[in-house]
Amino acid sequence: MGDAVERRALVLFSGGQDSATCLSWALDRYTLVETVGFNYEQRHAVELECRQVVLDRIKAQFPNWATRLGADHMLDLALLGQISDTALTQNQEIALKASGLPSTFVPGRNLLFLTFASAIAYRRGLTTLVGGMCETDYSGYPDCRDNTLKALQVALSLGLDAPMVVETPLMWLDKAQTWQLAEQLGGTTLVELIRTETHSCYLGDRTHLHAWGYGCGQCPACELRRNGYEAFAQPESK
Ligand code: ZN
Repeated sequence: MGDAVERRALVLFSGGQDSATCLSWALDRYTLVETVGFNYEQRHAVELECRQVVLDRIKAQFPNWATRLGADHMLDLALLGQISDTALTQNQEIALKASGLPSTFVPGRNLLFLTFASAIAYRRGLTTLVGGMCETDYSGYPDCRDNTLKALQVALSLGLDAPMVVETPLMWLDKAQTWQLAEQLGGTTLVELIRTETHSCYLGDRTHLHAWGYGCGQCPACELRRNGYEAFAQPESK
């Protein structure tokens, strides 16, 4: 294996299970991996704390990956609060809607995230964006669809006049398969890191530790995570 071509990627890393798995996937494949996080709503304060812990533990527990892990970038996108459901419907509570989506939902959010990320990648000499978008579990989000992201890849590459590949390693995986991918990449050490240090719960609950990780155990994000982990841990009972 030659190293004539240095493969450099920017991972959209929120501190959640999916993006932590994507980060591991990228560290397994690219010679340089940088990360970007977006700060845009209070609910995510917990997730943003988790992301630093995950980065620190990857550096400590995976020496081969630590040498590839580069700069972490944090963008303040507080303006998204002005175009979320919460603002537009004047709900003061960050609550879950009947649809199961958080009331802070922003239409086309991933288009915005990837476009901001591409600007960072361009300036840092990174040619691949890696995101945890997935059609399997999130059919309600049209900006997670494979065709949306392939179209955006073309738009970004043209608009920047530079190659900008959008990789979505979780696109066709369900939650159990996402845990399996983590196990393949980093064994039980990585599974345990993701289980205990990443965050999914919409309510920001970090006080209750379940078999599948921390969370309230009631919200849609917790339900999805629990079902996926149980299918991964005990496939015969599915
Ligand atoms: Zn929850």
